[in-house]
Amino acid sequence: MTLRALSVVSEAYPLIKTGGLGDVAGALPAALAPYDVAMTTLIPGYAPVMAALKNTTVLHSYTDLFGTEARLVAGTTKGLDVIVLDAPAFYTRSGGPYGDAAGVDWPDNWQRFGALSRAAADLAEGKVGGPGFDVLHAHDWQTALAAAYLHYDGATVPSVVTVHNIAFAGWFPAHIFPALGLPDHAFQIEGVEYYGGVGFLKAGLHTADAITTVSPTYAEEIRQPDFGMGLEGLILARRDHVFGIVNGIDTAVWNPAEDPYLAAPYERRSLHLRRQNRAAIEECFGLSDGIGPLFAVISRLTTQKGMDVLAGTTDEIVAMGGRLALIGTGDHSIEASFNAAARRHPGKIGVKIGYDESLSHLLQGGADAILIPSRFEPCGLTQLYGLRYGCVPIAADTGGLADTIIDANAAALSAGVATGFLFDGVNKNGLIRSISHATNSFADRKTWRSIQEQGMRADYSWKRSGRQYADLYRRFAKEPAHMEIKTAEQR
Ligand code: ADP
Repeated sequence: MTLRALSVVSEAYPLIKTGGLGDVAGALPAALAPYDVAMTTLIPGYAPVMAALKNTTVLHSYTDLFGTEARLVAGTTKGLDVIVLDAPAFYTRSGGPYGDAAGVDWPDNWQRFGALSRAAADLAEGKVGGPGFDVLHAHDWQTALAAAYLHYDGATVPSVVTVHNIAFAGWFPAHIFPALGLPDHAFQIEGVEYYGGVGFLKAGLHTADAITTVSPTYAEEIRQPDFGMGLEGLILARRDHVFGIVNGIDTAVWNPAEDPYLAAPYERRSLHLRRQNRAAIEECFGLSDGIGPLFAVISRLTTQKGMDVLAGTTDEIVAMGGRLALIGTGDHSIEASFNAAARRHPGKIGVKIGYDESLSHLLQGGADAILIPSRFEPCGLTQLYGLRYGCVPIAADTGGLADTIIDANAAALSAGVATGFLFDGVNKNGLIRSISHATNSFADRKTWRSIQEQGMRADYSWKRSGRQYADLYRRFAKEPAHMEIKTAEQR
């Protein structure tokens, strides 16, 4: 029987994306379709989303949802079945989905995402807009509160909350609590209270039927204080409900053989064509020719991503004969460090501060390796795109990076299974050692090619992960699953 799932999320590619969450939410419906799950995506009515909406039907009008008028509008757009929460007072503004153009969080985010979560619960329960859904799937702090609404409403609809990044807690001061419309007793430790305020993510983790996170290693890491951001105790207490399901990638959007953003599309058997893409990168980033590896960075420029450490090793990269092409935005001080490095090393380091989907594809299609020195990484997608594109990942041995890259140590190389380079401890020496190791391997063309080809053979499509989500939904919606999925405990 077809299972009807409502995914509620703050971004979904190709409508709106700021990072991996958008990619995953955009790909989930198609990933689940083969397993007889019909997924509708509820998303805020940001201007680009409203503009893209087709075949619309108004499902419901709220006269007062968190202090404003709002409508639930169903439609289709860019291959997705969506319901949009059209609340212009909340979502029609210039800037990003979470903050203004300077990156400062919108002060009313608790209302913007509280309203979205309330609407999700109303839809899932069938209180508005139709007969309801068989399961509700919420993502990160922005929508985790939807699970709490279902719980405190006493609804029977099961909820799944996925942690894409536990570092973003969605903490708000206690005085907002009455406006959330939850019962008084919800404001306690065994509820939504979190460090004296309200924790949107905590509320969801406490009340969801199932918690998933985006890789098995991260599912174990977030039980520890170093990674759990204060929620490790809750994760540990709920360990029987925590599942690690690695993200897939959209192999139609990320396909080097048919990528419209590449100067020269290519396959595993025609890797020599990557040279043309490398030439396009060199031109675009103002880089001179070179015989050493061309490293790429496509990242938020934050300490989570280890970009402060990388910014401190640019001189060594150049000294080792490497070049670097970087696209990213984030902390202004890290942006400034990379800009300074580009000025110190003209022709060797090219930096573009900004967000550009097409350039991110070109970099994967032409650079030799992608650098991902994350201090923690719930799943990470850029290494998966790198594997598929023969852009060898050099990454920290953590979270989803550890789960998806096979390190080029002697044993893996001799067995011909290595797909990248993993290093322990995000610090300058560790990073330099790893880059030096990769640079030496790069000089050995046969070895390098084998690493590239092995990565390109790896299957990180949604096939397996789509099935795991579908089975999880069915388990909680009380339908027989196709396949047993295990918690970290049971593995
Ligand atoms: P996170 O979601 O933590 O930022 P992920 O690796 O999971 O990290 O996903 C990042 C996504 O955002 C990838 O699709 C990556 O290609 C994209 N991305 C990151 N920075 C940029 C940028 N400056 N320009 C274009 N795409 C970017």
